[in-house]
Amino acid sequence: SELINPETSKPIESKELAQKISALNKANLNKAEAKQLKQLQEDCLPRLEKYEKNLEVLGGRNSYSKTDTDATFMRMKEDHMKNGQLKPAYNTQISTENQFITHYTIGQKSTDTTTLINHLETFKQTYNTQSEEIVADAGYGSEENYVYLLNNNIVPYVKFNYFHMEQKRVWKNNPFLQHNLYYNRLFNYIICPIKEKLKFIGTTIKESVTGFKSTIHLYQATKCLECPLKQECHKAKENRTVSLNLRLNNIKDHIRKLLTSEKGLEHRSKRPIEVEAVFGQLKANNKFNRFTLRSLPKVNIEFGLMAIAHNLRKIVTNRA
Ligand code: SF4
Repeated sequence: SELINPETSKPIESKELAQKISALNKANLNKAEAKQLKQLQEDCLPRLEKYEKNLEVLGGRNSYSKTDTDATFMRMKEDHMKNGQLKPAYNTQISTENQFITHYTIGQKSTDTTTLINHLETFKQTYNTQSEEIVADAGYGSEENYVYLLNNNIVPYVKFNYFHMEQKRVWKNNPFLQHNLYYNRLFNYIICPIKEKLKFIGTTIKESVTGFKSTIHLYQATKCLECPLKQECHKAKENRTVSLNLRLNNIKDHIRKLLTSEKGLEHRSKRPIEVEAVFGQLKANNKFNRFTLRSLPKVNIEFGLMAIAHNLRKIVTNRA
């Protein structure tokens, strides 16, 4: 038999394989071929069907639980023995206002970043209005989210990665950090610590898991190999290349101003007593640490009931 070349061979779907098997069943096969056909029919085809079903259940996730196929394995916070564990879970997102739960969505992926747009869209569908401002932590600070928020006239008090780091002295005083290299917007080049130009060499497109495209500008130095500071500057064997996402950098400049404004500081100081406090009340006070129902629709209802109960408790406490 011919060797299979993985570069030219194409994956086959179970339906097509079944059709081919049925056609071959009518053909005149010798003993060896008939044996191979039997293996295809009794072993390969059922396995292929099973894998296809599994992939359908996965739906873009990288795992699912056998006892609740809608739940995905996610890393839990460490327990008191410092064990982080993978458990079947749902990623619950909530919006709060004065510690009332105003909206919630249940996600099947562990990353928060990709949950924000759906959360806000469903908020709009539910209430036929939209928040004017939102406050969220760095887990939601992606270019895609910022673009969405700004396009929808929502003021984003949303931190980005390294927002706190970049205010530290050790960060500010490191001249080799990409963040601290001088960028000339007008002539589109970067200046490195020994005042050499990193010239623009082109762009590349980066696509996120959701299909959002970012344009990355690339700049390259020319004299790194003879530079006395190379060891401190970068580890590459060649000249240093720097990638800049100019749109994201412009957005970050805007976000930085917002977060450090008087209103931004007020919002940031409130976050721990808003959404974090509500999660605390749900989990620690009301002992709601795990869902008792299974499947996404039922979990949705269960959390909804918990949210209503939480809000009623809040009303009673406020009145008292
Ligand atoms: S190693 Fe290259 S980029 Fe870094 S300071 Fe020297 S010339 Fe500039």
